[in-house]
Amino acid sequence: MSLNSPTSATSLTPPTNTHSKAELLQLDAKYVWHPFTQAQTAPEPLLVQRAQGVTLELGGGIKLLDMISSWWVNLHGHGHPAIAAAIAEQARQLEHVIFAGFSHQPAIQLAATLAEALPDPLERIFFTDNGSTATEAAIKMCLQYWHNASQPRQRVLALEGGYHGDTFGAMSAGRSSGFYGPFESLLFEVNTLPCPHSFMNDSQQADKEQQSLELLDSYLAQYGQQTAALILEPLLQGASGMRVYSAEFLQQVIARVRQHGILVIFDEVLTGFFRTGKLWAAEHVAPEYAPDLLCLSKGITGGFMPLGVTACSQEIYEGFLGHSFERAFAHGHSYTASPLACAAALASWQLLHSTETQENLQRIAEQHKAAAHHWSDLPKLEHVRQLGTLLAVDLKADEATAEAAEQYGSTNSLALREYFAERGLLLRPLGNTCYLLPPYCVTDEQLERAYTAITELGSGEAQV
Ligand SMILES: *Cc1c(COP(=O)(O)O)cnc(C)c1O
Repeated sequence: MSLNSPTSATSLTPPTNTHSKAELLQLDAKYVWHPFTQAQTAPEPLLVQRAQGVTLELGGGIKLLDMISSWWVNLHGHGHPAIAAAIAEQARQLEHVIFAGFSHQPAIQLAATLAEALPDPLERIFFTDNGSTATEAAIKMCLQYWHNASQPRQRVLALEGGYHGDTFGAMSAGRSSGFYGPFESLLFEVNTLPCPHSFMNDSQQADKEQQSLELLDSYLAQYGQQTAALILEPLLQGASGMRVYSAEFLQQVIARVRQHGILVIFDEVLTGFFRTGKLWAAEHVAPEYAPDLLCLSKGITGGFMPLGVTACSQEIYEGFLGHSFERAFAHGHSYTASPLACAAALASWQLLHSTETQENLQRIAEQHKAAAHHWSDLPKLEHVRQLGTLLAVDLKADEATAEAAEQYGSTNSLALREYFAERGLLLRPLGNTCYLLPPYCVTDEQLERAYTAITELGSGEAQV
């Protein structure tokens, strides 16, 4: 047997297909630690064998329609052959190389593509490998930018309820999102501005926005010159419940902080790549309100590979130039600008701009709008909101949901998850919020199945 023979390792690691489903789940229970999961009370994970388009196949003929794009990353459906082929081809050419002192074609092409498509003044592309590191890098860039300028501004401002990832800087910026109890005392101070969420037929919107702007004015009067950056999820706060707010409000916030020289970071880890109907959520604001930095991840590779991007203005980039290494940005990750991930991103970019995808985006938004309209009349639903391919609604808390909440812990989302799974749907409510964020290849019939499951809850026909 030759050393290079692919069979030479079989005596050490048996191929996985020798394990039955039951054995795999036993091994999972024994060895795997799943994210955002209370293992003691969580149901057994669902074992996915393969996935095509919107369909996850669990074996034994059981299928689930993925209505949340697998944690918001998938754009064109699972297993898209064009992206799979781009990754395979890249793997044969160059799988990885250190990105300090070296560069490569997929990263260069992707950087040029993104820089040209992002709003001015975003011109420089810094690669990382996920959403948390993209925002972490953005925050560090802002703090060091002021440090290098010998104007040490150390305050960070954020929107209440914002989520920016799970590393320490990202947790600090998202400290009001409610996930970080054990680390609270170690997070750095971040001031938060109330976020004026809105929805269909919201009569309070103007008041909420006005109140928030007044608070911002008083904050800026005191701390404006000490504040390095404002970080926010533009228009759509994902993790804290798919909550939306207006572009007009965002413009007013940016106009105010700019008067104090504060840098603006848009965390578009979720909203990028047409999620909100436009290529970037930043396109919902007028060009003069474009951010100084913008973070991307999630959909960037169509959901195939981990990749993060922090784009920034030339002005920020130049703030790091000089003759000493101390002025440089001493930050990087082993898999920074992975050629495989960049190749996937370039393939996904092509698909994104095809006529087919563009027509799908319009069709999904129209279907969502019709469903939103219908839901706004149902007795057990409230706060309907729709933005591009996102459609979200809150279940009114009544006796039934309160009971489920008691049974399942702080929210009834587990019970809801089971309700949807029984109907062949992967939906993962955030508390009482049910939302659809489907891959762009979803069909009208598939959407209809998901709408119906929520409509039946909303009309009282079905209960959890
Ligand atoms: C998911 C998310 C992140 C974190 O991305 P990860 O890749 O999960 O680390 C950051 N910001 C926003 C807005 C997100 O939705």
